[in-house]
Amino acid sequence: MASPALSAPLPCGPAALPTERLTLVVAGHVDHGKSTIVGRLLADTGSLPQGKLDQIRELCARTARPFEYAFLLDALKDEQAQGITIDSARIFFRSDRRQYVIIDAPGHVEFLKNMVSGAARAEAALLVIDAEEGIRENSRRHGFLLALLGIRQLAVLVNKMDLVGFDQVTFDRIAREYRGFLSRIGVEPVAFIPVSGTGGDNLIGASLGMPWYHGPSVLEALDGFRPSLPEPERPFRMPVQSVFKFTEQGDDRRIVAGTIETGTVRIGDEVVFHPSGKRGRVRSIEAFNRAPQPSASAGAATGFTLEEQIFVARGEIAALAGEPAPMVASRLSASVFWLGKRPLAPGRDYVLKLGTARVGARLEEVHRIIDATDLEVSEGKPWVGRHEVADCVIALRSPIALDPVDQFAATSRFVLLDGYEISGGGVIRGVAEEDARRPPRLVVVEESESDFGADAAALELWLDANGTTVYRFAGRQYPARLAAAAEALLEPGVVVLLSVSANARAELEPLASAMIAQGVEVQWVPRPQ
Ligand code: GDP
Repeated sequence: MASPALSAPLPCGPAALPTERLTLVVAGHVDHGKSTIVGRLLADTGSLPQGKLDQIRELCARTARPFEYAFLLDALKDEQAQGITIDSARIFFRSDRRQYVIIDAPGHVEFLKNMVSGAARAEAALLVIDAEEGIRENSRRHGFLLALLGIRQLAVLVNKMDLVGFDQVTFDRIAREYRGFLSRIGVEPVAFIPVSGTGGDNLIGASLGMPWYHGPSVLEALDGFRPSLPEPERPFRMPVQSVFKFTEQGDDRRIVAGTIETGTVRIGDEVVFHPSGKRGRVRSIEAFNRAPQPSASAGAATGFTLEEQIFVARGEIAALAGEPAPMVASRLSASVFWLGKRPLAPGRDYVLKLGTARVGARLEEVHRIIDATDLEVSEGKPWVGRHEVADCVIALRSPIALDPVDQFAATSRFVLLDGYEISGGGVIRGVAEEDARRPPRLVVVEESESDFGADAAALELWLDANGTTVYRFAGRQYPARLAAAAEALLEPGVVVLLSVSANARAELEPLASAMIAQGVEVQWVPRPQ
């Protein structure tokens, strides 16, 4: 996918811009015409800076080169090259309906990086296939990658129709074959469109050369896509990007900053950070260059301060108390798309990046391998080769917070680094069996009066040695109060030990029932008679 120049932010034409936006990726085998189609869409929708097209035409004439729409992108990129970070690289064009942002994805790696970082997440895709050359391996791989990352809005453009005499039979054959491939991976494109990037056929209007085609133009198909809605109603998720101190007012508050993936946070909400389980109540919500807000929702880059002084680190995921929590795990079932020159193999050290977390990772088991080009499935191979997709188990050096892909796409996508290079990416399917966290447990230990606390202390030592997070309370005087306080600590995998006198059971019974109703395992350890 070594298309030139899909990387400069371009100014749009003078008319007032529609405010709705949709982020688009253009994929396909090299030379199948991606840049040409994008260049032509920019020109035909009037999205180019004034005079740009003529300037390029003149330049081509002067240097005796044939004019190429793809040069437009090169030229615009060169012009904008200074002072522009690659991360902000976008190309804009517009229809009457909305603005389109084409994300910079000259290759698989950039695409994965963009999809995972969230800086430029594609909501829809155009997949370009050369009518003369037909479906190539990358046509299939890119389709597979789009499906894996959950990009379901797709239009397939069969390009260079002029080179096959605008022949309907050729188009139908390619469309049928590629539709068959996509349906096996569960993708239903909105349209197959015969186009010519150089001639502009069926890009923004109908084509004289192809009267047999009655479907939408490319622009019509694009306008039919739905922008993915921000998700303010869903449970709150904000990967912590950074934590910094307020300096202006000389106080010691900390701002916890990040981009909200889903949900809404309001002043007064109780936030729980995963995997640490730390909690705090939101005191204020801050935004750059804006007055403090009462709330912030999905899509916002924001920060909040907390009433409590707690230390949270980059990489944790902030969720809200009372809403479904993310999972915390160190063994993951995942689907991985591998791009590295060296195979993904057991025994080697990798780094997994998910949200803002970064953690050492190893391949533990390979369940099956799918060849992304022919969808052949093989089992029994312990390593994953370049361009293969594997359903596998990944073991992490320490647990991180995450979600399965069928529930929260954003907090399920990850990339894998081999050394310093992004060498693969994928999605979390779930937590690998053995690691599924036990529900929180409250263990009430009836102690002897003569050696109050000794039994729970012994239990604590043992649990601690087995890697369980355990808290111990001694409650001879106020067991109910301590149990209520302990509730705040009851996160998945955590054990709270409560030492009580033999007669405390009746007092604790109602509280214990309420905890059981919330999914806490409550165990009584009676004193031996
Ligand atoms: P990319 O690598 O996919 O971005 O491909 P380009 O846009 O750079 O196009 C590769 C070559 O195909 C260029 O020489 C284009 O002029 C040519 N090309 C692109 N679209 C068409 C088309 O519709 N018809 C013809 N005849 N050539 C095309």
